[in-house]
Amino acid sequence: PTLLALRGVGKVFSNGVTALSDVDLTIREGDFLSLLGPSGCGKSTALRLIAGLSTPTSGVLDWRGGGSLDRANIGFVFQEPTLLPWASVFDNVWLPLRLKGISRAKAAPAISEMLARVHLTGFEDAVPRELSGGMKMRVSIARAMVTKPRVLLMDEPFAALDEITRFKLNNDLLELWQDERFTVVFVTHSVFESVFLSNRVVVMAARPGRVFDELAIEASYPR
Ligand code: ADP
Ligand code: ADP
Repeated sequence: PTLLALRGVGKVFSNGVTALSDVDLTIREGDFLSLLGPSGCGKSTALRLIAGLSTPTSGVLDWRGGGSLDRANIGFVFQEPTLLPWASVFDNVWLPLRLKGISRAKAAPAISEMLARVHLTGFEDAVPRELSGGMKMRVSIARAMVTKPRVLLMDEPFAALDEITRFKLNNDLLELWQDERFTVVFVTHSVFESVFLSNRVVVMAARPGRVFDELAIEASYPR
């Protein structure tokens, strides 16, 4: 079933830059969809619109034929992990639950389970500066997923990591998604990464006027 349809979506910023023009895109429940395209083609803009962090200047975002998805149902992972530097791994992952009024003790089982899922068991008390880039990214993913959002939005999450770390994280993310089947929209400029991870790859192309060139490519192997 359709989770979200973008219909004729455009975004013109106040400085006159057209980032998106007439985008039509349907995201199905359980998709692992990659937005693939060169720098500056509007991928982040599209993701921010989906996240509700920005509004389109034309067209509509249609959440399952009406309404809008509750913000709490969306997890966001950026390239920069944005962890609380003074807080432990455990407390960083607790944060979204804490904001919902859930005590540390009550949140503990969910936090431990999420940390196990991202292979960080044993690092609960570490603080971010003691962790590698890959481990910080794992904490970010755990923090985004601990509330069990229906949709996970990822903006070039692994672009700053070395190749091997990136490949390990790709595998772990894929494993998480295969187990839980949440919907993922994954922004990348890596062809390899998009094909490895996704069941749908939507290609965006930079053009004069920055038209969103949408091709949905089904991966050649089953998911
Ligand atoms: P991508 O994620 O594919 O690299 P972006 O969505 O970040 O592309 O940007 C698309 C275009 O819109 C770029 O030309 C960028 O400079 C411009 N842009 C992005 N955000 C803003 C903004 N808030 N105001 C003005 N221009 C913006
Ligand atoms: P919206 O109209 O969707 O609220 P804004 O135009 O207010 O978006 O810009 C959102 C943010 O992006 C602002 O914090 C702005 O400073 C920042 N920004 C401005 N220009 C650019 C740019 N060229 N590329 C990326 N981000 C930008």
